[in-house]
Amino acid sequence: MLWGMDSPRGKKVSQERLQSTTVSDNTARRLDLVMIVFNYGGGRQTVAMSIMIHKGLLPRPDRAIMADTAFENPMTWEYLDKYVQPLLNEIGLTVEIASHRLATVKDIYAHNGDMILPAWTSDGKLRGFCSNEWKKRVVERYARQKGYEIHEQWLGLAFDEKRRWKRHHGKRSGKITTVCPLVDSMMDTATCLLIIENQGWPLPWTSSCYFCPHKKNKQWRHIRDTYPEQWEHACEIDEMIRDHNFNERNEKGGELFLHHSRVPLRKANLDRDDSVAGSRQCSLGMCFV
Ligand code: SF4
Repeated sequence: MLWGMDSPRGKKVSQERLQSTTVSDNTARRLDLVMIVFNYGGGRQTVAMSIMIHKGLLPRPDRAIMADTAFENPMTWEYLDKYVQPLLNEIGLTVEIASHRLATVKDIYAHNGDMILPAWTSDGKLRGFCSNEWKKRVVERYARQKGYEIHEQWLGLAFDEKRRWKRHHGKRSGKITTVCPLVDSMMDTATCLLIIENQGWPLPWTSSCYFCPHKKNKQWRHIRDTYPEQWEHACEIDEMIRDHNFNERNEKGGELFLHHSRVPLRKANLDRDDSVAGSRQCSLGMCFV
């Protein structure tokens, strides 16, 4: 995998979208009135929301968009292709893929050289800006390019994720209000799982980049045992960030790690299940949903 490129799946879809949308895109830069955009993350909550939309339990959004971080767990794409998109096809809704090329940061570093991953330090964890740069801003740029005028964007945060949704639900930024429909419906993650099971589908994994430092051991094992190419790339990134002097300006610095035990990923003990103490997941509400 090369930095700055779309994932193979995202690239394929982007090309298809390009072919199918060239006429309208080139016709005019007119605004396309899009009242509701569903930010499809590919995890349990947004899969359950897709089923609810299909069943009419949620209104049909005008658009569904997913940011291609270029590093998404392969199973997220597989699940979208096999289960979610065929169902949404029945109501004429396509999950549009916002290309990673719309991200302007340099790989895993900000323009000023700061690490943007929420990597583990010797005594804490970096805040992480990757979700903002690879997802939020990419979706915003995509919508602007398409000329969509968005009034409401949906996030897939469940009622039991209060620490995450209380920062977003009902908040307005410019003309856009962020809404978490599962919160309005008081639906928790367990109910989302039930909805997916009742649909007769296997449970999806949580969506995330395959090297995300928020991962728990169970998720690391799955990448290691199922996707050797992605595992190898994660190990390489882990080695690459080790000596990044992440905080030069205030004279701190030190080693960075992808695994919460703060040992090289290749040597980390992934055998025991753990809670990843201190992990906050993505505060933007766009990862792990
Ligand atoms: S999944 Fe993790 S690494 Fe990927 S964008 Fe979200 S927080 Fe960053």
